Amino acid sequence: MTNTYRRAVFVGPRQIRIDEVPIPEPGPRQALIRVRACGLCTWEQRMYIGEEPYYPLAGGHEVAGELVKLGDKVFTDAKIGDRVVASLLTRCGYCESCRKGLDNICDNARAPFFDTDVPGPAGLAEYVLMDDYQLYKGANDIPFEELCLTEPLACVVRSVRKARLERGENVLIIGAGIMGMLHLVLAKQAGTRVMVSEPNAPRAEFARQMGADIVINPFEQDLAESVKQATNGRGADVIFCATAAGPLVELAVNLAAKGGRVMVYSSIHPRGTKISVDPNIFHNKEVTLTGTVSQDRQDVWEAVRLITQRKIDLKPFVSRVFPFEKLEEGLQEALKLDTYRVVVTM
Ligand SMILES: [Zn+2]
Ligand SMILES: [Zn+2]
Repeated sequence: MTNTYRRAVFVGPRQIRIDEVPIPEPGPRQALIRVRACGLCTWEQRMYIGEEPYYPLAGGHEVAGELVKLGDKVFTDAKIGDRVVASLLTRCGYCESCRKGLDNICDNARAPFFDTDVPGPAGLAEYVLMDDYQLYKGANDIPFEELCLTEPLACVVRSVRKARLERGENVLIIGAGIMGMLHLVLAKQAGTRVMVSEPNAPRAEFARQMGADIVINPFEQDLAESVKQATNGRGADVIFCATAAGPLVELAVNLAAKGGRVMVYSSIHPRGTKISVDPNIFHNKEVTLTGTVSQDRQDVWEAVRLITQRKIDLKPFVSRVFPFEKLEEGLQEALKLDTYRVVVTM
């Protein structure tokens, strides 16, 4: 083992610097992992093209690897060499949000990471250091490329959990990207009937393959009409907005059945986008409009269990794998509409 490792840092639009930094020694309640796979999430893609211009930033938060070193005060079943998941979101544990069970939106989430020379989760690297609570034991027979999708899956676990799906309900998913499709898989497991709205033909086809009951092309069919027809005019009980467009949230509120829940899953860009809805919908139909962001510890735990107990197959979501050396190529590929998740391996 040499004593330095490579770490990617976003330094400007379409500019990535590769640093050679010393391998850190874990403290008593820390773990060091050798990163083996890291997913290229929308966040990293936006950073790469300059939509999230917070430079310099060490990206990479969908991380799976091998446990290399463990501090002596870490309580875990994972042994050195085991496959583990790094949930790199910072959860201080002490702020009001963390103490209220909202550690996904910890008040101190933007506090400095350990690699204090550059902020960011720093998972696009050969090694990553983390606190004990960020370490989750994986399973040694699950490929790293799939294990690293724990993070996006955990976000969707949260969204579906908060939507309180009941068997037999009608669910509408707007957008058949990877997030929409992970919603589809979990919603089907919950015993619901799922409609998917997606204009892109290959994505619509993928939604069908993944078990969508009804797939609607909103450019060819009237989405509102199609949903009404499929639900005897009642509307959808739960609507997941998995496309970053404000007007679709408006539409979703109007398409919700009595007692319906509209879940804003995607962050809507540009930030500050406004929508306009009739507030009587919330009164007369008891519709709920809410959303989720990231995942709390329980969501991560659930996602890890779903993967390691093989309750979900993530293979179809890994579109392409690039070696770390071809990170930029991987990011360009990830930006294409026909990929679900592009993963880099170290
Ligand atoms: Zn992510
Ligand atoms: Zn906190």
